[in-house]
Amino acid sequence: MHKALSRRRFLSNVGRSTAATVLVRPALSFTHMNSVSGFFDVGDGTSLSWQDQGVINTANSPYAKLHGVPVRAVTIEEGFWSKRRKTNVERSIPTLRVELEEHGRMDNFRRLVGKTKEPQKGPYFSDSDIYKWIDAVGWALQSDAMPELRRTTDSMIREVVAVQEPNGYLNTYYQNDRVSLRMSQHDQEVGHEMYCLGHMLQGALAYYRGTGDSTLMDAGARMVDNFVLPNYGPGQNQKPIISGHPEIEMALIELYRTTGKRQYLELAGYILHGDDRWTIDPERIVYMFCGIPFPQRTKLEGHAVRAMYACCGAADYYLETGDQAYWKALNTLWEDLTRRQMYINGGVGARAQWEAFGAPYELPNAQAYGESCAAIGNMMWNWRMLAASGEAKFTDVIERALYNGINSGMSLDGTTYCYRNPLAFDPAHFDGFRGSPNIRNPWYDVTCCPPNIERTFSSLPGYFYSTSKDGLYVHLYDNSTLDWHLEDGTPIKIQQKTSYPWEGAVKVTVTPAEPKDFTFHLRIPGWANGASIAVNGKPEPGAKPGEYLAIRRNWKPGDSVTLNLPMETEVVASNPRVAEDRGKVAVRRGPVIFCMEEVDQAKSVALADVSISLSQSAKFTSEYKPDLLGGVTVLHHGGGVFEVSSAEEALYAPASLAPAKTRPAELTFIPYYAWANRQPCAMQVWTPYVRT
Ligand SMILES: [Zn+2]
Repeated sequence: MHKALSRRRFLSNVGRSTAATVLVRPALSFTHMNSVSGFFDVGDGTSLSWQDQGVINTANSPYAKLHGVPVRAVTIEEGFWSKRRKTNVERSIPTLRVELEEHGRMDNFRRLVGKTKEPQKGPYFSDSDIYKWIDAVGWALQSDAMPELRRTTDSMIREVVAVQEPNGYLNTYYQNDRVSLRMSQHDQEVGHEMYCLGHMLQGALAYYRGTGDSTLMDAGARMVDNFVLPNYGPGQNQKPIISGHPEIEMALIELYRTTGKRQYLELAGYILHGDDRWTIDPERIVYMFCGIPFPQRTKLEGHAVRAMYACCGAADYYLETGDQAYWKALNTLWEDLTRRQMYINGGVGARAQWEAFGAPYELPNAQAYGESCAAIGNMMWNWRMLAASGEAKFTDVIERALYNGINSGMSLDGTTYCYRNPLAFDPAHFDGFRGSPNIRNPWYDVTCCPPNIERTFSSLPGYFYSTSKDGLYVHLYDNSTLDWHLEDGTPIKIQQKTSYPWEGAVKVTVTPAEPKDFTFHLRIPGWANGASIAVNGKPEPGAKPGEYLAIRRNWKPGDSVTLNLPMETEVVASNPRVAEDRGKVAVRRGPVIFCMEEVDQAKSVALADVSISLSQSAKFTSEYKPDLLGGVTVLHHGGGVFEVSSAEEALYAPASLAPAKTRPAELTFIPYYAWANRQPCAMQVWTPYVRT
């Protein structure tokens, strides 16, 4: 490992990159400024009102090729995601609020102002549960005003900020009797103070972008301004600061994007650099994904959510500074992710022990950890890589994680959640998880995943489109309407009509306010071999899987683009180094990964004994079932059940070259995300195959 850059060298580097950044900052001008409040001066004087800021606000990021659109600009209509999003606001967000109350998460705040005598409850990062829930509400309020939810959340925010100390400090675990523990090296490594502040800022920014109410954001900024910045950082009179659980980095940079205050970016950069005044156990440097300069990282390791959030912060730092060492490291880590560490469902973090990445290709199925938060972190990181590059390979990862490893994390009725997302499951061999006999639960004492999934679904419209200097990008397909503007201010509407992901036809209507020359970039998913596109009925050549097809023309109101993505079922093999998947295949149709659940198979078919029969002529049949699992496409394929002649058969016998004996069976596959929504039964994504 290289010797860490010294603190002094880091500071001089920051000075240089700051100066360079100011020089190259492009003069983006948004003319569509219709709001009357909430303007902030960002860097060069260009600013976006709160209504116009995306999930991340890269409007002024000098190294962003793509700029997000606000959640409110996209209306997701009746289709695949509308069901999830309706459940999210009608069931998930309200039921989780009840759980948060019942488990004392708000009483932790009330306790400090004498409103309750309840003791502190939950782990030291419990405040973040409230902030992530507020995060989910903030985005949801962009899609629908929901006055009652707004009132409830406003009053929670008032109870949160009421406990802020005059010096700006706000963390219920470290107030009153635990003041002396604050920000010690031990607590910075394990205590999550900066993690909670990060979630406070993210929740506050979501709420600000949803409502224009800056109460929580102002409180978060006060903690940074009055408590963190004066006391922690590289200066002679400041104490060391590290990120025991990355999160603060991306939150500080988002606060910088919103307020224009450059110290936030510089502090994030310093934390990403690591603080060499403290000696940190090398194992913890691996586990925390913090403590050495981020650009020295060459592989994903340690705690998966920490690593993903660190990559998000580092990508944000690159978007603002253009630091090439960061971009190089991020791409090296991304290659490691996609070549050696990512599950087929977009999940990451194979090991339950330390919730960590395993060795390269260590991707067990039943033992997979695959925390919902890690898949979400993966999506968030790739969203930032996409903003920096405009490359569709990053969108492919977003789609893979979103439809599968994230979507599996919430039950179809929206009230129970997976913390782990295994790729094989047998109730007979399941020892329960964190004290519960179930894989899906309404509550975990470490309840990071439920509100994380909720905020992902409520912010989802913000991931559909981006603008760029030359036009517009479409990333995701579903029935929806975009009502926004090009970067030159020309108002534009885009409508999508589709049955995606069950069918591959997408009809897109492009309606600029007036005829306009611009480039429309349509994403051709990496799996879509043979995709075709037509503009006003005329074939448009050049569609390549895993790229955006750039169509530059004079677009007129009502122009239509038809996209045909071949929704064919494919069997997928893994790299043979993934030991558990050798001799097995998984089934994918479009962006959806399928699995088998035992409940869908014939009575005599035990999942542990099945194989899929592959030949040139064997084909899948597909069938849309509106009444099954909220409406899913089901796949069928011929297979077999391994015959075991008798229970008395020897455990070991001379190997035979004859093919294993099987009896035929029809196999039924459902989308992986919908597993574990009926009675507990065996499930598997990877199935042995026999050639016939
Ligand atoms: Zn989690």
